[in-house]
Amino acid sequence: MTWSSIPIATLGTPRIGPRRELKTALESFWSGQSDEAALLKTAAGLRAANWERQKALGIRVIPSNDFSLYDQVLDTSVMVGAIPAAYGWRGGKVPLATYFAMARGAQGADPDHACAHGHAGHGHGVPAQEMTKWFDTNYHYMVPEFTADQAFTLASLKAVDEFLEAKALGHHTRPVLLGPVTFLKLGKSKDPSLDPLSLLHRLMPVYIDILRRLSANGADWVQMDEPCLVLDLDTATQLALRDAYGMIAYALPHLKIMLATYFGGLGDNLDTALALPVAGLHLDLVRAPDQLDAVLAKAPRGLVLSLGVIDGRNVWRADLSALLDRLGPVVTRRGTDHLQLAPSCSLLHVPIDLELETDLDPDVKSWLAFSLQKMDELATLSAALSGERERVADKLAASSQAAAARKASPKVHNPAVAARTASIASTLKQRDSAFPLRAQVQRRRFGLPAFPTTTIGSFPQTSDVRKARSAYAKGTLDDAAYERFLREETERTVRWQEEIGLDVLVHGEFERNDMVQYFGEQLSGFAFTKHAWVQSYGSRYVRPPILFGDVSRPSAMTVSWWAYAQSLTSKPMKGMLTGPVTILNWSFVRNDIPRSDACRQIAFAIRDEVEDLEAAGAAIIQIDEAALREGLPLRKSDWKTYLDWAVECFRICASGVADETQIHTHMCYSEFNDIIDAIAAMDADVISIETSRSKMELLDAFRTYKYPNEIGPGVYDIHSPRVPEIGEMTELMALARQRLADGQLWVNPDCGLKTRKWEKVRPALANMVAAARALRSSVQEAAE
Ligand code: GLN
Ligand code: ZN
Repeated sequence: MTWSSIPIATLGTPRIGPRRELKTALESFWSGQSDEAALLKTAAGLRAANWERQKALGIRVIPSNDFSLYDQVLDTSVMVGAIPAAYGWRGGKVPLATYFAMARGAQGADPDHACAHGHAGHGHGVPAQEMTKWFDTNYHYMVPEFTADQAFTLASLKAVDEFLEAKALGHHTRPVLLGPVTFLKLGKSKDPSLDPLSLLHRLMPVYIDILRRLSANGADWVQMDEPCLVLDLDTATQLALRDAYGMIAYALPHLKIMLATYFGGLGDNLDTALALPVAGLHLDLVRAPDQLDAVLAKAPRGLVLSLGVIDGRNVWRADLSALLDRLGPVVTRRGTDHLQLAPSCSLLHVPIDLELETDLDPDVKSWLAFSLQKMDELATLSAALSGERERVADKLAASSQAAAARKASPKVHNPAVAARTASIASTLKQRDSAFPLRAQVQRRRFGLPAFPTTTIGSFPQTSDVRKARSAYAKGTLDDAAYERFLREETERTVRWQEEIGLDVLVHGEFERNDMVQYFGEQLSGFAFTKHAWVQSYGSRYVRPPILFGDVSRPSAMTVSWWAYAQSLTSKPMKGMLTGPVTILNWSFVRNDIPRSDACRQIAFAIRDEVEDLEAAGAAIIQIDEAALREGLPLRKSDWKTYLDWAVECFRICASGVADETQIHTHMCYSEFNDIIDAIAAMDADVISIETSRSKMELLDAFRTYKYPNEIGPGVYDIHSPRVPEIGEMTELMALARQRLADGQLWVNPDCGLKTRKWEKVRPALANMVAAARALRSSVQEAAE
């Protein structure tokens, strides 16, 4: 039997360019070194190259409008004219300056973010729109902002322009739009009584307008992304989906919509999705392989199914033969003309080209596939499923061989690690005594004042620090000189902390490039790339470590730096570590064992480090879990399982020490209400959290919930370029004291100071210490 071949589609591709061309062009434009025309030319060049490459790789359904200068959600806000009044837009074409003001703030605002992984900066001038994570990825989008009297209007023809641009280059593309329901659900209003979904009927005419223009210009299919379909949806949202797609079908009966869902299974939304009047449905069959049977059983015959079988969220090469075994029967059952093969989601979330990695371990490299390699895998699958198995026999064999080699490789499997993590005795995740007793012992040991002061760990990474690091990496600065430089930075920072009177000191983290990479580089089981960048937000890209094998710790990672710093002072010096859940959540993680198992392995490695620090004399050890919350699964029913193992992993790290050793943790967010039990179950002696920007709102969680251990609600908003006044910080502490006992409270900034400038950090921390002192004396006076 011969089949017509199954079309291969991509839902979106990385836009940053294989050599980060977009970043270079953006930053040069922002700094005034180049003009708008130069930026737009680079952007057009990247799009053209992207289309050309896809065509060459055999992709039949090539997207357009997947490109963005900054963010596709921001593009959608601009398309529908959802531009808050503060940005001064008065209709007409939206100037690039307005677009970037929404993205980064304007005039005096501070576009640099303190957390490498979140939070928009804000300052004077017009602040940027809020930024938050795109579902459970490390991509951040600009949060749409709506008002009760929100009007929508078609304000950007980018989708049409890019369709025509591709057409002129000879590509008939399938334009991508973020669907109206997901768009509204991602948005927010300052007016809490406004439900963004209630704006759907005002929004739809704009969507219909743009779809009509696309159709008039020759588009026959449009991809509409509605990833909200993999979330827990209320009836109102299900109805909104029905309304929205009903209106589109009514207005444009001949336009075919490929409704794209990804990052999970449709689950209880399957019937909702199948009832929509659309021509195609894209399924994520990597995250939710099991949904295929249910969909096949229920999907109407004419519905085009786009099978997302290649992982768009991770870097592993697929086992093509295994996939063929799964897909063969589907093809037999449905025929080839109503199927497409695709990555599970947009390839935005993976690096571009594996071939650029010339220094990677060849074995590890042979197990990987980046964006371009994934497209090639799809082409191979399609050929094999379309009666051309012979032609791609070599590729299939190579794929099987790589899968077998990975499964058997001693680089991946370490029996000692497997044995250690196989069964975990309960004593391994339990401190010797309960917190009240530990607190007594620790109080006696440290004799700290009430409301003790400390910082989160890092101090400003000045351009001198960055220069020294890159000179060292290039080999122009030798070991000894680099070491000397770092020691001097550390010593200066320790002395300064003593001078201003902080109670618990840190060494400043000058030797660390990144809080995850620093540890990954010293652990076995991790690989690092040179060019494998993925967009985190705007022009900020990250190169996540690749966790490919069992994790072990060949030797101590932080002890010598801690020991040096402690030798400079008689005040307690915190040992400073990144926790296992954060290391996991900010890496590409192996897919051959459950995430929880990989996390447990990291937990044991960190536990060993904690014990080594204690043995070296560290009395206080901080284990940062900055990314614990962002690992929460998309469906609430999966939360408990995740939180259980995440908390267990933290406890494995933290429970090897004596009662008198104080364990701290830090988290850079304040939405705690829904996970407060898990936070308490971590049983850290002290936790520092972000609160200053939300004016202690987070502490609402503590109104009803009695948080048992000690806590430092950040009083100095390090994301703001402003130096906080003493009074502001004492006021914030007063709010904290309404919810928590004095004996529980610490005084600290709300995150690390790495991206800040010394000029701001110095007065801010001096004020913070003054605020703590003022608080101590007022409490004492009140008692007398
Ligand atoms: N200890 C780290 C620092 O101070 C914590 C960073 C973070 O929470 N993102 O930089
Ligand atoms: Zn933080």
